[in-house]
Amino acid sequence: MLATANRAKAREMAALLEGTPFRILNLADFPGVTMPPEGESSYAENALAKARAVASATGELSLADDSGIEVDALGGGPGVLSARYGGPGLSDPQRCEVMLREMAAVPRERRTARFRCLIAIVCPRRRREITFEGVVEGILLDAPRGDGGFGYDPLFFYPPLGRGFAELVADEKNRVSHRAQACQQARAWLLSEP
Ligand code: IMP
Repeated sequence: MLATANRAKAREMAALLEGTPFRILNLADFPGVTMPPEGESSYAENALAKARAVASATGELSLADDSGIEVDALGGGPGVLSARYGGPGLSDPQRCEVMLREMAAVPRERRTARFRCLIAIVCPRRRREITFEGVVEGILLDAPRGDGGFGYDPLFFYPPLGRGFAELVADEKNRVSHRAQACQQARAWLLSEP
């Protein structure tokens, strides 16, 4: 079970888990399962809370992601609060606009940022819980670039490829992203568990 209501995340995770001996289900397969509200303390706690809620509602092995963007010039924020940055009810492009405004006076050399992803797996049958972490470093752009991806992707420049995350095709992002790194570890764990 992919314990996420975010379709873009579910799409990325399903692609990253391809080839594992599991049938990938998502919340659409279990209407009525609700996600717990997100806390503010840590990605790991949030990811575990989502995976536990879905595992206990469905009885299936559940995998949840909690992630965010950490901007050094914003003191490492918004981090775990990324989905709520700028206030409630904003769209992804509106949150990007708020971030660009806050960062307007910050020069390129101080625009370092990273995406972080925590994946939690909860296996109700075996009573196992485990988390995996992935991080990708980049630079916050001064205007949106590209129309792929989701969330803060249009603001995130990835130096090794010389392009922004929203300028990458899905396969390229899935080779290098924070979610890809965490999912690769999760995948290896799933394949090694008897
Ligand atoms: P949450 O994990 O549901 O709390 O939300 C994560 C927040 O970080 C959302 O605002 C996402 O848009 C953002 N985010 C997480 N992963 C990515 C990504 O791969 N690209 C762009 N934004 C992301």
